[in-house]
Amino acid sequence: MPIIKKLNSTVIDQIAAGEVVERPASVVKEMVENAIDAGATEIEVWIEDGGIRSIEVIDNGCGISKDQLHLSVESHATSKLGKSEDLEAIASLGFRGEALASIAAVSRFSITSWPKEQNRAASLKVTFGKKGDVLDAAGAYGTHIKVEDIFAELPARRKFLKKPGTEASHAISWAERLALAHIGIGFKFYSNKKMVFQCAASDSVDQRCAVFFGEKVARDMVFLKKKMPTISLEAKIGPPETARRNAKHVHLYLNGRWVRDARLLRAVREGVREFIPHQFYPVLFLSLEVPPSSVDVNVHPQKSEVRFREEGLVFGSIVRLLRKTLSEASWATRTAGSIGQEMKSNAVNTMGQPTFIPQQQVLHSDSAKPITSFEDTLGTQNFLAVRNTFLFREVEGGVEIIDQHALHERVNLEELRKEIKEGDILIQPLLVPSLVELSRAEVLQLDERREDFLKIGVDVSAFGETTLAINGIPARLKRIDPESIVQDLLELLNQTSPLSPEQIQEEMLFSMSCRGAVMAGDTLSEDALRSLLKRGGDLPQDRTCAHGRPVRVFLSYEDLEKAFYRR
Ligand code: ADP
Ligand code: MG
Repeated sequence: MPIIKKLNSTVIDQIAAGEVVERPASVVKEMVENAIDAGATEIEVWIEDGGIRSIEVIDNGCGISKDQLHLSVESHATSKLGKSEDLEAIASLGFRGEALASIAAVSRFSITSWPKEQNRAASLKVTFGKKGDVLDAAGAYGTHIKVEDIFAELPARRKFLKKPGTEASHAISWAERLALAHIGIGFKFYSNKKMVFQCAASDSVDQRCAVFFGEKVARDMVFLKKKMPTISLEAKIGPPETARRNAKHVHLYLNGRWVRDARLLRAVREGVREFIPHQFYPVLFLSLEVPPSSVDVNVHPQKSEVRFREEGLVFGSIVRLLRKTLSEASWATRTAGSIGQEMKSNAVNTMGQPTFIPQQQVLHSDSAKPITSFEDTLGTQNFLAVRNTFLFREVEGGVEIIDQHALHERVNLEELRKEIKEGDILIQPLLVPSLVELSRAEVLQLDERREDFLKIGVDVSAFGETTLAINGIPARLKRIDPESIVQDLLELLNQTSPLSPEQIQEEMLFSMSCRGAVMAGDTLSEDALRSLLKRGGDLPQDRTCAHGRPVRVFLSYEDLEKAFYRR
């Protein structure tokens, strides 16, 4: 019969380390977080061989007094939490009191610390959980921790380590995540004695973004800052052309803690969906500050998942603020190629052909007729339709290429939204109602929500047990096939996770805008194209279609000159 024994504390810590210390990068994360909690203003990280050989973190924070040094490496020992009520409002990054104990249980660990109040530094060594004595030592104010040979005595864990290069990149990522959000603290990171990055304590958020996202992206990022009674939100969002297929460049912070929470990420995607191509993630820095008592960070050992007490409020604010900011973003209408802003002085020669001469010359040429109003421009401006898909035209500063489907989709979406907001969506009654055969359940399901659908301009009613009549559709969407609307509605109503009436409305606006739009390849008369361009004239947002794909591409004179080696 097997015998039950109490585990000794080293084994307990080694088991616990499985949760906190996954790889060298986790050590970097935990130790840098400790330095931040200690109020450091300068933090240095040195790793050798991806941290497998050694990791050092040096800070100038408050330090640990000599008589407490041995406690810092005990499990469940922390200075950040006292009683269980403290768990209700955690203001520090750490609180579990497990990190140093776990790290010291799986490595050759040494800590040297010198609080200003003490007359010299003290140090302590722990070898795979076996503690030495606290000794006087030489050092500087603050704390210096060195972690060597991680997992060397735990072959089962050691073999999961990747190549030093891979481990180094994970460690760098963690240091970057922390440095990005903690302005006011200077960071230096070295790998195999070479500097990987550094940022000054005096940096602004912009400067930090430039270090981690690159100068150009940082310059084009849109800034959002909002303080509400219970939430403050600050974000920098990269332009659509820098979006990625993975969320690697999405950095979400909650009270200074980097988090990777699936539901927060979903709120972000919802907020950017019209501006960033479908299935892409933006380059994003988003920092949320909420009262510590309104969030539970104690749901994940690495604290990367969180729970909000007022989830709806937080997620709703993120979605709303991202949408609002992006719709006003300068890159939404950055180039002169904005559909609304025609060039002031357009050159059209007597043959009615556009003359592609640089602006400066046009202004000084006699043949240039200054066009004053927007209406004028639309009447006279020339464009070239290519493959019944792309519209080329000259605009201020260069040439613009528009995707006719994307533009029409965006026009439909914005116009429908406006009508719905003003509460008078125009319904076009069908001369002969369109009848669709469905199951009994489907007919009931749709008939039940008649009122909801009327709000988005869709008039349906039961016409028999297994027949649904489509009586009217939104008047703007002349091209839409009424049956496709019913198919979309059924699909939305029967999703595995049910959608709210508002979500269904939004989704329907998207799909109807798309289905009601001209397609790439559709032949349109010149008048129709002109009218489309005109309707595109005063949209709140015209850079991307409803799915976040670009509506237009702008080639500046400079781009053209470069292409022809004139620059
Ligand atoms: P936690 O951060 O959850 O409290 P840790 O195991 O990471 O637990 O650290 C244990 C304690 O050691 C901390 O509560 C803190 O008092 C002290 N400590 C750790 N690192 C530092 C540091 N760099 N500077 C000052 N104190 C530190
Ligand atoms: Mg800690």
